[in-house]
Amino acid sequence: MSDALLRCRSLSAAVEEKSILSEINLEVPRGEVHVLMGPNGAGKSTLGHVLMGDPVYDITAGEIVFDGEDITELSPEKRSKAGLFLSFQAPVEIPGVPLRSFLRAIVEAKGQKLKNKQFRKKIEELADTLDMDRAYLDRELGVGFSGGEKKKVEMLQLLLLEPKLAILDETDSGLDVDALSVVSRGMELYQKTCDGTLLVITHNTRILERLDVDRVHVMVQGRLVAEGPADLIADIDANGFERFEAGIAAAE
Ligand code: ADP
Ligand code: MG
Repeated sequence: MSDALLRCRSLSAAVEEKSILSEINLEVPRGEVHVLMGPNGAGKSTLGHVLMGDPVYDITAGEIVFDGEDITELSPEKRSKAGLFLSFQAPVEIPGVPLRSFLRAIVEAKGQKLKNKQFRKKIEELADTLDMDRAYLDRELGVGFSGGEKKKVEMLQLLLLEPKLAILDETDSGLDVDALSVVSRGMELYQKTCDGTLLVITHNTRILERLDVDRVHVMVQGRLVAEGPADLIADIDANGFERFEAGIAAAE
């Protein structure tokens, strides 16, 4: 038996009775980097949200097993405690709340106990690692942050929480060059220093340059239609999704 950290079995999901995901079978083994690609509207972000337990989506069939536990019915909070992390495409802004306090709150929400001094040391070291000015930790959360700075905060959260699986959905976020390099460095650190497992949803192949990709999955119209090694990324970059879409059309 494979040691899959995440396993979706015949997972189907709908929103307001409109079917979006159909019979998704996906396995992500511990410590691997998987990439999910597909044309706009294929359902990639939906899969990310369904994995996190977003109540907007109904799971209509199948199951999600994470780290040996069936999490199909668990709340988003419990999934996060179990070790799942989804990047926020639109990071929150909370005027009046310093970044430090926010980070403290998310660590506590996850049930991790850290003394004040340890916590301060840890976030300051992480800020240094990410080339983030420590002064940012005392600024109001997200207010007036550039795209790159917001991404630094997100990567800081990732490295602080050390989830078992990080799902990073960068598809529609229009990252600038700065933000791109922050994310790719954050993912690399997460993989190397936290033994992380990654499911990266992206169109942007530059973001993957620092990672050793194990597997690529292609989604078209709510179905996983192809799977292959890292070479598939260059193929898709050059030839797009047409041949996968043609396969779906022929089957209909
Ligand atoms: P991708 O991330 O691959 O571009 P999405 O998962 O965002 O695709 O969307 C897949 C399909 O599901 C689209 O047709 C989209 O309009 C629809 N969809 C996603 N979320 C919702 C929602 N909350 N309400 C209605 N339709 C949605
Ligand atoms: Mg998307």
